[in-house]
Amino acid sequence: MARAGRVVAEMHEVCARAARPGVTTAAIDRAAREVLARRDATSNFLGYHGFPAVICASPNSVVVHGIPDETVLQDGDIVSLDCGAIIDGWHADAAITVPVGEIDAVSQQLLEVTQRSLDRAIAALVVGNNLADVGGAAESAAVEAGLSMVRDYVGHGIGTAMHESPEVPNYRTPRGRRHRIRSGFVVAIEPMVTVGSPETETLDDGWTVVTMDGSRAAHFEHTIAVTDDGPQILTLPG
Ligand code: MG
Ligand code: MG
Repeated sequence: MARAGRVVAEMHEVCARAARPGVTTAAIDRAAREVLARRDATSNFLGYHGFPAVICASPNSVVVHGIPDETVLQDGDIVSLDCGAIIDGWHADAAITVPVGEIDAVSQQLLEVTQRSLDRAIAALVVGNNLADVGGAAESAAVEAGLSMVRDYVGHGIGTAMHESPEVPNYRTPRGRRHRIRSGFVVAIEPMVTVGSPETETLDDGWTVVTMDGSRAAHFEHTIAVTDDGPQILTLPG
């Protein structure tokens, strides 16, 4: 999974560099496909319930699951890039949200808060805690900043499939208390934060999830293994 995670980190680097004003999200997907081919990795996104690309590209008010297409990125946009890879049957999954050109202060704060939410959740992913502690840590960053945590989508266990149990909510839930964190546990944690309402809806294409009020959203995700020495992020550059 660490090998698959390094491929995902490389996809992030390549996609983030490609996400410039004037570039289409389809072109970013093509750049990600080149990384998979170069590293002899396969995609866990392509063909997933019929998904047509190896990344999700979600600009501005798209929260998650945006399909790469001929949408041209503009100066001042933000775009979430969710990438996955499989090596020898083992999966990794991670997302970043990046600025396109110069972004305003609202977008800058949104990116910082969502990244902080993920960082806090990872810090809470230690033996002895439970998933309510992880979710509470994720939510705290958004609440303190006066932003909203999306509740319609959650993180997940990951291993020989991209989505395994348990669900990992980005907020404190009673059921999270039943999931104690043990060494060897591997999860994808993925907070999604909006500057307005946390309510979402899915467009007619069956994939694209947008904020109901049109406000901007950001999404950060890592695949993380719990070890006796603490959380180990698998989706970082090697
Ligand atoms: Mg995920
Ligand atoms: Mg993902």
